[in-house]
Amino acid sequence: MIMEIKLLDSGYYIASSNSYGILSDGAAVVVDCGRYNDSTAKFLNDNRDKARLILLTHAHFDHIGGAEKLREKTGAPIATGKTEAAHMCDPEYNLSERLRHKIGVFEPDYVISDEQTVTVGDLKIKAYETPGHTKGSMVYLVGDSLFSGDTLFKNSIGRTDLFSGNGDEMQASLERIMWLFGDDIKVYPGHNEATTIGEERMNNPYLR
Ligand SMILES: [Zn+2]
Repeated sequence: MIMEIKLLDSGYYIASSNSYGILSDGAAVVVDCGRYNDSTAKFLNDNRDKARLILLTHAHFDHIGGAEKLREKTGAPIATGKTEAAHMCDPEYNLSERLRHKIGVFEPDYVISDEQTVTVGDLKIKAYETPGHTKGSMVYLVGDSLFSGDTLFKNSIGRTDLFSGNGDEMQASLERIMWLFGDDIKVYPGHNEATTIGEERMNNPYLR
C-alpha cells in the first residue's frame, strides 16, 4: 500500500498546531484541524471518490477548532477517542474559554476505543488511548507512521498541567508508546517537526 503524508496546516495563530493529510489509493484522512482552511477542505473534496475521515487526537481547541466546519464543507465524518468525545465541547476542557470564540457544540460521528482498529478504505488505523496531556488523548498508528498528537513531540512531550492533564498518566502512556513501537516508526506530532521513535529513544530528555 502506498501512502503519502502531507502537512496541511500548521499556522494556527496562537498555537501552530499541525494538521496532516494521509492519502492512499482508497482513502483520504485529515488528522486534527485546529482552524478551518480551504486547502484542507480541498484535500478532502479532491478525493471524494475515496473513503474519508476527519480524525482528532484530542479535544484541545487548537486541534479541533476547524473540524465542524471542515465536516460541513466536505461531508467527511469526524472520529475521535471515546473519552475525548465526552468532553469535546466543554470550554474548560478544550481550553476555548481562554479565547473570544468558544467552540460550538458538535458531536463526532464515530468514537474510538483503546486498541481499536479503524478501517478507512484501504487504510488500517490502530488507535491507542494515551492519557496525560488530556484525559482521553489518542495516538494513531497508520502503516509505519504514528500520529502522536500532543503526547510525544520531537525532544519533548505535551504539557500535563492543563485541565484534565496528569503527569503520572503521561509517564505511563510514554512508557507504553516506547514499549509498543519500534525505532523505525515515524512520528508526526501535533506541534513542531516530525521525528522517529528511535530518535526520541536516544534524544528525548523526558524518556530517560
Ligand atoms: Zn493539546
